[in-house]
Amino acid sequence: MRQVIFLGAPGSGKGTQSKLLVADCGFNHLSTGDLLRAEVAKESELGLKVKNIMENGELVSDDIVLELLKINCDLVGSQYLFDGFPRNISQAQALDEQVLNDTDSMAVYLDLDLNVLLERLVNRRTCGDCGAIYNLVYSAPKTAGTCDKCGGSNLVHRDDDKEEAVSKRLEVFKTTIAPVLDYYEQKGNLRRVDAEQSMDQVLTQIKKTLGC
Ligand SMILES: [Zn+2]
Repeated sequence: MRQVIFLGAPGSGKGTQSKLLVADCGFNHLSTGDLLRAEVAKESELGLKVKNIMENGELVSDDIVLELLKINCDLVGSQYLFDGFPRNISQAQALDEQVLNDTDSMAVYLDLDLNVLLERLVNRRTCGDCGAIYNLVYSAPKTAGTCDKCGGSNLVHRDDDKEEAVSKRLEVFKTTIAPVLDYYEQKGNLRRVDAEQSMDQVLTQIKKTLGC
């Protein structure tokens, strides 16, 4: 079983591609957010600890996330798509040392020029009524200013999607992901996929890379 570590900036299409890969190739989607929520719902000892941390508005430590990954992954019997973890070099190393060990794994990076990402993200509009998301360049609503889904006319440019905030987020991403990419590259298991193509083309290329 080859495990896949899926890496990509906000706006790279990682969320969409994850869903498609799960549907087409039978991966188990492993999102740390989902794992944390599931453990809390189980009311296990660890879950209660996590609940406490979250209720205090604190960040769950890497150690807890790694522990959760260890108990929830059947690396021999299942194939996983690690999404949202690792986010930095220490998490990447810990994931290898504590969870993956010598398991066959591959890191796939959705490679995209940061200026293209900036354009994607600043053109995002969110319906203030139903939460539908549009992009004025790639997926504009049929009638400008009106939500296709609910007919509302409350399309909002969220502060998170304004240029200054997006630039800052992308800069942080770039700085923290660079050593992660170097790390996997040196191990010889990094594959870069050109994510500036259409959604279908990106999916085809990822599948080819993974052989599925
Ligand atoms: Zn709407």
